[in-house]
Amino acid sequence: MRLRGIRRFHWARDVEEALSLLAAYEGRGALLAGGVDLARSPRDDIEGLIDITRMGYAFVEGKDGKVRIGATSTLTQVLEHPLARRYAGGVLAEALSRVASPPLRNMATLGGAVVSAHPWADIPTVLVALGAEARWQGEREEKAALEDLYEKPFRKIFRQAVVLEIALPAWSGAFAFEKVARSAYDIALLNAAAGLGVEDGRVVWARIAVGARPHRGERLSWLEQALVGEKPAPELWNKVAEEVRARVEVEDDRRAGGGWRREVAGVCVRRALERAAHKVGL
Ligand SMILES: Cc1cc2nc3c(=O)[nH]c(=O)nc-3n(C[C@H](O)[C@H](O)[C@H](O)COP(=O)(O)OP(=O)(O)OC[C@H]3O[C@@H](n4cnc5c(N)ncnc54)[C@H](O)[C@@H]3O)c2cc1C
Repeated sequence: MRLRGIRRFHWARDVEEALSLLAAYEGRGALLAGGVDLARSPRDDIEGLIDITRMGYAFVEGKDGKVRIGATSTLTQVLEHPLARRYAGGVLAEALSRVASPPLRNMATLGGAVVSAHPWADIPTVLVALGAEARWQGEREEKAALEDLYEKPFRKIFRQAVVLEIALPAWSGAFAFEKVARSAYDIALLNAAAGLGVEDGRVVWARIAVGARPHRGERLSWLEQALVGEKPAPELWNKVAEEVRARVEVEDDRRAGGGWRREVAGVCVRRALERAAHKVGL
């Protein structure tokens, strides 16, 4: 049995209450969102669970192509929201519909996924590719690009803070997501998200992230830069696949070998770019 130390359960009415309860537990309390991840926690030192799902942070809002998603929105709420379905060529819906199973997506929240940020997870890969920004409240309100946060000891930061929302920038182009797993409900052996904008038949921007390498999703900035000015065409995508195979940083773990991941990374990035190009009408 996990989390054997739990003594008390709280519903936080607002962020201030959640933070003051967290502080009162002096490290022995944890915020609870969907509980999907927390239920698997080996920690026995947690005495109090602070449920944050009734604080009013389950929303999806949009303005001028940007989308803001409240941290306690479940993956299903996001997946089914028309704004999120349309955003950046529908990449959020593509990625979220590949996360675990429908019952799990009905409970798991986007904020919980951002904080747990498993290296094999799909959500960090797609959010990093999209340039998502997290806003959180700790001692003060702060915000940062997830890509930068994941370079820091972010779990330590979030132990004394509440993630409030994830903001997604507007993109004039489209993204696509690819995942390879052993079954429809399994976690990724490799995943990739890629997007591009095209003007006058040439790539004007590209964003590409590869995750579950087995490390967390990171951008391939060298490839993004190399694609600018290129003409989208099958030959270009084949060249991209070769370049990714040659340069992507992958390793072995108990689930897949690095050599296999290298091959699959090339294919996934090529497919994601091809599909993103198709979405922008090419
Ligand atoms: C069986 C299984 C399969 C999975 N498959 C996939 C997959 O295929 N692809 C994928 O991308 N992911 C996958 N995941 C990961 C899943 O997306 C995350 O575990 C889930 O989104 C966590 O959200 P939650 O609301 O349940 O978090 P919780 O379990 O409630 O919390 C997780 C952690 O985050 C903290 N936390 C939660 N919300 C906040 C907040 N707003 N502010 C600060 N801290 C917070 C909690 O204190 C806890 O430490 C899988 C998980 C499981 C268990």
